[in-house]
Amino acid sequence: MQPSFSTVTVLDLPFVKTTAANFQQTIQQRIIAQQNTFVVTANPEIVMYAHHNPAYKQLVQSADFITPDGIGILDGAKILKQPLPERITGFDTLIRLLQWASDNHRSAYFVGAKPEVIAALKQKLPRDYPGLIIAGIHDGYFKDDTAIIADIQRTQPDMVFAALGFPKQEEFVATHRHTTKGLWMGVGGSFDVLAGAVDRAPKFWQDHHLEWFYRTVKEPKRLKRIAVIPHYLHLVRQQAKRQRS
Ligand code: UDP
Repeated sequence: MQPSFSTVTVLDLPFVKTTAANFQQTIQQRIIAQQNTFVVTANPEIVMYAHHNPAYKQLVQSADFITPDGIGILDGAKILKQPLPERITGFDTLIRLLQWASDNHRSAYFVGAKPEVIAALKQKLPRDYPGLIIAGIHDGYFKDDTAIIADIQRTQPDMVFAALGFPKQEEFVATHRHTTKGLWMGVGGSFDVLAGAVDRAPKFWQDHHLEWFYRTVKEPKRLKRIAVIPHYLHLVRQQAKRQRS
């Protein structure tokens, strides 16, 4: 973990204690300096998955930065009496980096999502981010990643975005991150949102910390995801108690 930010450890995962704007700046500076960087944007579901899977936990702990994606992480930090300033989501980070890349002619490689989402992205990205250099773009339903990795090695993109869902995307990033000198980040379902296949919650819901509710109503399969929250909060309270005694 970089010493540039202090961290708050929630169930063994150190979250950066900073604003989204500061985080963004640091990532951009690292890209310019060609520093290899692995970012995990973690929500309670990822924290709980790591809690139950030591190998995955180790992999997430090997990231340079873990950011609080999800209001549940902010709630956890509050319980620990070490509040974090704000969420730093994978989607917002991706969007800001794409805008920065477009303004500065930087390159990105996209791996993940369904073939039809990728087809839509191929149309949309050059329209929305005209200065962005698309080093490569590939759907996330491959059996063998050898050809994709060879392509990433050849094109040396400034950024690699993996939208494979967890734990796949972190495994992919941790295994291959040293193929380039740039940024590697898992972005979950962000390509679906970017391509317009799935809506992000309207601003009202985001501002009232109810994005999770909006998305669950629209996609009931997400229910099982928020079902981990009570157990997660229970474990964080236990951590808080241990730290007090
Ligand atoms: N996905 C993929 N390959 C797979 C499994 C999933 O590319 O083998 C993609 C899927 O199409 C979706 C993303 O990974 O775009 C996962 O999205 P989800 O909404 O589950 O992730 P979240 O945003 O909740 O982390």
